Amino acid sequence: MKITEIWKTSQKPTVSFELFPARSDKAAERLEQTIDELSALKPDFVSVTFGAGGSTREGSRQLIEKLKDEKGHEVIGYFAGYGLGPEDIHAVLDSYHVIGVENLLVVRGDPPREGDFTPHPDSLTYASDLMAFIRPKYDFCLGVAGYPEGHVDAPNLAKDIEYLKLKVDLGAEYIITNYCYDNQFFFDFLERCKAAGINVPVLPGVMPIYSVKMMETLASLCGATITDELRQGINDLPEGDKEALLSFGIEFAIRQCRELIEGGVPGLHIYTMDRSTSSIGIIDGLRGEGLL
Ligand SMILES: Cc1cc2nc3c(=O)[nH]c(=O)nc-3n(C[C@H](O)[C@H](O)[C@H](O)COP(=O)(O)OP(=O)(O)OC[C@H]3O[C@@H](n4cnc5c(N)ncnc54)[C@H](O)[C@@H]3O)c2cc1C
Repeated sequence: MKITEIWKTSQKPTVSFELFPARSDKAAERLEQTIDELSALKPDFVSVTFGAGGSTREGSRQLIEKLKDEKGHEVIGYFAGYGLGPEDIHAVLDSYHVIGVENLLVVRGDPPREGDFTPHPDSLTYASDLMAFIRPKYDFCLGVAGYPEGHVDAPNLAKDIEYLKLKVDLGAEYIITNYCYDNQFFFDFLERCKAAGINVPVLPGVMPIYSVKMMETLASLCGATITDELRQGINDLPEGDKEALLSFGIEFAIRQCRELIEGGVPGLHIYTMDRSTSSIGIIDGLRGEGLL
């Protein structure tokens, strides 16, 4: 089913989880367990990332197949086009089409940070170029990425929204956002979208706090602001207490999600990092309050 159809019929905000393909046998074992635990929460859909340059090509397809066919989930397959030539793009998208993928999130991707990778000479520069390439050829329900605090390379917020509008004009039917720790960034982003004439559903990404190191690293990569309130809350915890940090992160995310739901979002998209404890805590908490 197309994600946009799910939103049309859903009485409550949707629940969805992002997963990525495992990179080792041990991680694959853990992922198997994570999938079972997250499946028990009966999400409305799940999504699977795609390594830029095609690095997880086979793993992403296999994971999508497992989630769809073995677990019965509706899936958004992500597609990061960085470095891929037209034939590679066709090969990946044809393979998704064959296994019945109906929803695709089209992102540019970033150059791999390790190893030598030479982009195909005919690879496309921006996600909008990918949209223009893909839309006329495939019938996927297409989505694109949005950035409440602006993308790290964007010259300014206004230009970033201009490029987002271009992606929507080229056929994006929904937007999934990068996470932020202060909802005001998200609500201001919604206002900018509205002012620019972007009228498709905007699904907020939510990143639970898994560890301080991961929080710092990811935030510096994607430009998410770690607010003073969040830093203070973490500083007040007993040092090195992982359980306390996880619980604090769950409570922080519940508060954030509660406000997002009150603000009328179509759903909550949790960046699971292939872990289940925080997602379970957050979704159980919100369901306990009758919000989901
Ligand atoms: C929900 C979500 C899912 C993601 N999934 C993946 C994934 O599976 N795999 C992965 O590798 N990465 C993923 N990413 C990360 C993403 O690939 C990076 O953030 C990447 O740097 C930008 O991708 P984009 O599609 O937003 O790029 P674009 O929309 O192309 O934007 C990239 C930058 O270029 C600017 N820009 C856009 N169009 C133009 C133009 N025409 N002229 C000049 N400048 C322009 C934008 O302002 C922005 O600064 C995801 C991000 C999000 C939010």
